Amino acid sequence: MIPLQGKGASPGIAIGKLTFMERTHYSVEKLPVVDVSGEIERFNAAKETAVTQLRELSKTTTEKIGEENARLFEVHGMMLQDPDLIGPIEKIIREQRICAEYAVMEAGSVLAEEFAAMDDDYMKSRAADIRDVANRVIAILSGTWLDVTEGSDPVILAAEDFSPSETVQFDRSKVLALVSRSGAANSHTAIFACTMGIPAIIGLGPSLSPGLAGMTAAADGETGVLCIEPEQEVIAEFKKKHAQNERERRELEKYRGKETVSSGGRKIGLFANIGSVADVEAALLGDAEGIGLFRSEFLYLGREDYPDEETQYGAYKQALEEMRGRQVIIRTLDIGADKKAAYFGLPAEENPALGMRAIRICLTRPELFKTQLRAIYRASVYGNAAIMFPMIDSVSELRRAKAIAREVMEELAEKKLLFNENVPVGIMIETPAAAIISDLLAKEADFFSIGTNDLTQYTLAIDRQNDSLSEFCDIHHEAILRLIRLTCENAHKAGIPVGICGSLGADKTLTRFFLETGIDELSVEPSRILSLRKLVAGLD
Ligand code: PEP
Ligand code: MG
Repeated sequence: MIPLQGKGASPGIAIGKLTFMERTHYSVEKLPVVDVSGEIERFNAAKETAVTQLRELSKTTTEKIGEENARLFEVHGMMLQDPDLIGPIEKIIREQRICAEYAVMEAGSVLAEEFAAMDDDYMKSRAADIRDVANRVIAILSGTWLDVTEGSDPVILAAEDFSPSETVQFDRSKVLALVSRSGAANSHTAIFACTMGIPAIIGLGPSLSPGLAGMTAAADGETGVLCIEPEQEVIAEFKKKHAQNERERRELEKYRGKETVSSGGRKIGLFANIGSVADVEAALLGDAEGIGLFRSEFLYLGREDYPDEETQYGAYKQALEEMRGRQVIIRTLDIGADKKAAYFGLPAEENPALGMRAIRICLTRPELFKTQLRAIYRASVYGNAAIMFPMIDSVSELRRAKAIAREVMEELAEKKLLFNENVPVGIMIETPAAAIISDLLAKEADFFSIGTNDLTQYTLAIDRQNDSLSEFCDIHHEAILRLIRLTCENAHKAGIPVGICGSLGADKTLTRFFLETGIDELSVEPSRILSLRKLVAGLD
């Protein structure tokens, strides 16, 4: 047995085969072929494989994040039946007598450019889809298509690190656990894994080498222990712990459906953080009293182009409907820093966490912001929605964001589209600046939610992505506690509620402090709700 020690990033036990995810890179060469009809047949076989993959992807996407989002893959499948794409590919192979990979790339880019040049925005956006479809076929043809979990038994997936966009796309029925050589506990990857209920261990270092692929491993996402080729007794230990976790989970059932109230009578809301519509199910299972943080950026990650209004509307509507009247706080786009989407074309920055991210992007690209706000307002009639702006630093930023929201409401009203004009508009307190002027911000916001992950990063000047700084990162630093207390006092003076949606909200050593400070709501990973309710019930 080889025992490896990393950091637990998302709790849970998993036992399974270790599979390494290596990224694919396509390099397409213009190679001559002799057997032209054989090459066309090879292309057709790859095309059929792609169609089957897309059908499967559409099915799983419907289950995970709804039909609206799955439609994209149906469109991709239809593109592969389109004579405007298939005709030129076959023609290039036949006339130029060159390999299918090159023909697909060539025909795909010509067609994509034609679409990109169109006036209609919808048609323009199809260019990225054509490139995506072409890349899929090229990857299948060249044997570089790597879906490590495809068709196999569920695996423990290993890599140097996983990006947030990869993590949100994993099929949780096929990924037993995520284990990585590097990574930081407070990163979005860790947060997403935790929200999705996938155990994760990060920072295992170089010992997690690809040579271990195919071996059986046992992972404990709480202690950060990964045992390679564990002995029977070790497997039994892991299974025992799993059974113990399950017993505790059942024990917590008696807190389901109850209010969260201390023995001294202090009530607090226990909400869930979600990263996608698929997580609403986990939030309901966890008995969330609402959604305190819907990280809407999941809709933007792992894609080739911006999600359109309809896609977003569908996702928000579904989340609101499924939460049946419980509040759903939708945080507007918080992209940038570690959450990257290439199509945003954000310039490389020296300090991306201090750079163009979150509300700053929305304020400099109002059309992008308005598309999201339109989708949220239109969906707002289907439930109890609230809007929350991330990374607000000043009153003027809040006013600018609210002015854009008002513009969106006016435009919707003009078009006679239904929306709820009383959707509460709150902000995240994520920077020391926001906490310090929380008295001023409280006069113009309907609620606050303290994002302790970023508040910690910016207060202590410690990059949350940089694992090597962990010895300097005192998450209970008095400065952070004072900023939380100050924010809470200022919110209550202005008569608005204040919650915590950063990871500190689930820190059981601080629950008493939060109750004493007067925090109105804690928003945490769904699986943590019942145990926090039990803890609160025991506090006087
Ligand atoms: C936070 O910063 O605490 C927060 C909740 O936002 P995110 O972790 O998505 O940056
Ligand atoms: Mg944040």
